[in-house]
Amino acid sequence: MSREVKRVPVDFVWPLDQRWQGYLTPDHLLPDSCPDCEHGLSPSGEYLFDLWHGKIPFHPAVTGSTLLTPATPQVRALAELHIAQAPDYYGADEFAICREAARLGALFNSMWCHHLAQEDVDALVAAGRLTELTHDRGAGGGWQPKDPPAALTAEQVNAWSLRGMGHDSMNARVVIKARCVREGVAYACATCGGDGHVEAYPGQRAEAKAWRPTEPPAGDGWQLWESVTEGAPITPVFETADDLVAHLVAEEGFRPGAAKTLVEQGRTAGSICTAGGAVLHSALDADVINAVGADRKKGIG
Ligand SMILES: [Zn+2]
Repeated sequence: MSREVKRVPVDFVWPLDQRWQGYLTPDHLLPDSCPDCEHGLSPSGEYLFDLWHGKIPFHPAVTGSTLLTPATPQVRALAELHIAQAPDYYGADEFAICREAARLGALFNSMWCHHLAQEDVDALVAAGRLTELTHDRGAGGGWQPKDPPAALTAEQVNAWSLRGMGHDSMNARVVIKARCVREGVAYACATCGGDGHVEAYPGQRAEAKAWRPTEPPAGDGWQLWESVTEGAPITPVFETADDLVAHLVAEEGFRPGAAKTLVEQGRTAGSICTAGGAVLHSALDADVINAVGADRKKGIG
């Protein structure tokens, strides 16, 4: 948890744990939702988006893909897993597994994302989106292209999408965009340009871009803030640094050395630190972290 000591007026008042208003984008700068799209896409793009997610009727034959059945190995395996995870809900017999497999098969058959055509797969590979299938984990943990390169078939990718996480929203965008390009139709919404929002008044976008957060007023007081969210005070304001240190020790569980170091340095160094294998709290162990940092500079640690 990052902490920062702020110098604010002694009579500064802002509720504890509540984000400072100067850090919040003002309401009048928030754009309206686009009236002509849901996801920043053209009418064709929105149609394909719904097809991808099975929100409108889809049939695997359209992409030349194979219809899944309750006996398809991946469908059967997933059904067995669901039944094993919730026997009280589904029942645990063969009938329950078959019923769940039939449900899953019908569900997956209704979604383009599980029945890609070869050109959809080619678009994903070209965009570097199927690393898990086209690459191997190298010795150092990084991804290395398979050698020889993997020639992925739609069948392989469709079987993969039924396991684990499957396609993410970025994959959906890549496939939808490639299909729009192949069919010569617009991909992005012409009204909003693709981001799904429009200006509530002329010039709002530029104004929002130019907006900068404002700090709380400066003064002679001492107050500890958390800066994990966008920043909120977490202690009362004190007249002296020593009073803030005393409060941290008495009320916040700080050791005196850690409180003193934190207030002297003005902020914590990151959030979690490790030293000698021990995990340190950046605020509560500020003195230890400071000492380790000084030793490292001197070449001791
Ligand atoms: Zn739009």
